[in-house]
Amino acid sequence: MMKKNVRFIAIIMVFVSFAMVISGCSSKEVVKTKHTVVATTTMLADLARVIGGDAIEVQALMGPGIDPHLYNASAGDVDKMSKADLLVYSGLHLEGKMGDIFENLKGSNKIIIEIAEGLDESKLITDQMSGAHDPHIWFDVLLWKLAAENLYNGFIELDPENEAIYTSNFEAYKKELDALDTYIKEQVELVPESARILITAHDAFNYFGKAYGFDVMGLQGISTQSEAGTADVTELANFIVKHKIKALFVESSVPKKNIEALQEAVAAQGFDVAIGGELYSDSLGSAGTPAGTYIGTVKANIDTIVNALK
Ligand SMILES: [Zn+2]
Repeated sequence: MMKKNVRFIAIIMVFVSFAMVISGCSSKEVVKTKHTVVATTTMLADLARVIGGDAIEVQALMGPGIDPHLYNASAGDVDKMSKADLLVYSGLHLEGKMGDIFENLKGSNKIIIEIAEGLDESKLITDQMSGAHDPHIWFDVLLWKLAAENLYNGFIELDPENEAIYTSNFEAYKKELDALDTYIKEQVELVPESARILITAHDAFNYFGKAYGFDVMGLQGISTQSEAGTADVTELANFIVKHKIKALFVESSVPKKNIEALQEAVAAQGFDVAIGGELYSDSLGSAGTPAGTYIGTVKANIDTIVNALK
């Protein structure tokens, strides 16, 4: 009886200590199963979700309709960025007020991806006025596909075990992007060549124009940090009247007042120009709507443009 008890206690003790070892190890692993990725813009968060699938936990700093040029990171954002395993930002100074934060985080040992990094200089558009590169690369679908490679490589570096998942997701997505590019080119054909002029609130669509054959004019420059002057409004109004432009476009992440002022300046010259609709420029549409993804946003834009100008 005595012997049996001792053996029983010994077995219990072995089990208890074994359980302690297991729980001691796994409590960390349970928390750490998914790598956390912080993305600055909605375009990047969508891309990270597509490539990362279920293997990645994505947090977006900016919501739909938020202007990245003017965005100031909150203390909570900085905390999220410093805790993330991987941080992806757009770059080319799109996040104009966050540059110092990115520089400071580069000292830490997390993976930091600038999506525009390493793109061939010949594919980038340089602003004549400032000499800076235009950051709105996502509106050339094939250029965005190239840039996406940076994030894909970052995921493999972060999590080599799940390389097969990322590769399969990315390969499938690249085909969808090719199809999207073809769709845009087909839709553009519906607009008479002389009417392929896109006038918007700020210069977000230069890559779109270059890739798909539109002349593009923005009331503000490549950053919304600059203000549109009265001279710009008058000059653009004259241009609209001269070329009998059918429609102007407001942008989801830029206040409408400047475009409305332009419309009024045109009306003062006795010509009517419509507001052709709202384009998504530096942010995707709301989650859960058709424009809540990158592909949905780009499709919504091209449909709006074609409907107003054809
Ligand atoms: Zn912009």
